[in-house]
Amino acid sequence: MSALTVSAADEKRVKGMGFLNNKGTDNFNGRIITVNGKITAAQQRCIAEAAEKFGSGEVVFTTRLTVEVPGIPYDKIEEFQAFIAKEGLVTGGTGSKVRPVVSCKGTTCQYGLLDSYAISEEIHKRFYEGYRKVLLPHKFKIAVGGCPNNCVKPDLNDLGIVGQRIPEFDEDSCNGCKKCAIEKLCPTKAAKVVDGVLEIDKDVCNNCGRCVEKCPFDAIADGTYGFKIYIGGRWGKSVAHGRALRKVFTDKEEALSVIEKAILLFREQGKTGERFAQTIDRLGFENVEAQLLSDDILSRKDEILAAELHLKGGATC
Ligand code: SF4
Ligand code: SF4
Ligand code: SF4
Repeated sequence: MSALTVSAADEKRVKGMGFLNNKGTDNFNGRIITVNGKITAAQQRCIAEAAEKFGSGEVVFTTRLTVEVPGIPYDKIEEFQAFIAKEGLVTGGTGSKVRPVVSCKGTTCQYGLLDSYAISEEIHKRFYEGYRKVLLPHKFKIAVGGCPNNCVKPDLNDLGIVGQRIPEFDEDSCNGCKKCAIEKLCPTKAAKVVDGVLEIDKDVCNNCGRCVEKCPFDAIADGTYGFKIYIGGRWGKSVAHGRALRKVFTDKEEALSVIEKAILLFREQGKTGERFAQTIDRLGFENVEAQLLSDDILSRKDEILAAELHLKGGATC
């Protein structure tokens, strides 16, 4: 292992490009952005070739669905970038900015209530690529989960989206069966027959949609698809569970605009070095929720983006 001769300034510069120093050497891990954890076979071949040509020959997967190639010499960084660009791949994903989006496989999963790959790709384009130059108080992590099983832990991200299907219960069609099919299958025990009719406790129901079309008398013939949004989660040195906004969004554009408002709010009202969870604690959840449900902050978008803020944020990786 040769010693590090790259200057601190250059180390910082390439870190901003997604190249993290292999401790004590002049080699770097190149962090490749997979958009949402889904890459083509051709892209995989390209990464494998790049690993053999420029790196140690190994490819490592990060917990947040990026792919890193270790062992890239400092003076091969630009060549490495040009090589993977042939398959449309880029490096990045570091700094006090919007981080690469994490998605579950809700698109193909039997429980998926949304097209998680399509939505996470849209979020990537709008808020990872679109906000790549926007400095924030700290990193801002976004995850998209296809259903309340929460496999990608959306509620442990700064902002998490969870697919929903809100059951449409028709009381008039309910016979109050002695053995109710819905009561039996409801995983949260939100559904119960009380005084001869099914009742769904809205505070307990997580809108998993599993009861839709399962009543033999069509009392729940349909369900409305939607998005639940959690804010202020984090997992790492400190842990915070995100809290869900009270509104379940049934319009995708409205849900995506909440992400933009959250990023703008964090930039405008977050203190340099704090995570979104801390900003929310300081301002109060109800205050933040009210701002995210109104459009005031969007009207200040240009002003917020133009401000000189967070020139050195809190992220260390
Ligand atoms: S969160 Fe739901 S949709 Fe996503 S992988 Fe898990 S079970 Fe499937
Ligand atoms: S919801 Fe359906 S299965 Fe359950 S009690 Fe009503 S009619 Fe019977
Ligand atoms: S949507 Fe899920 S949690 Fe809610 S009542 Fe139906 S099965 Fe139960």
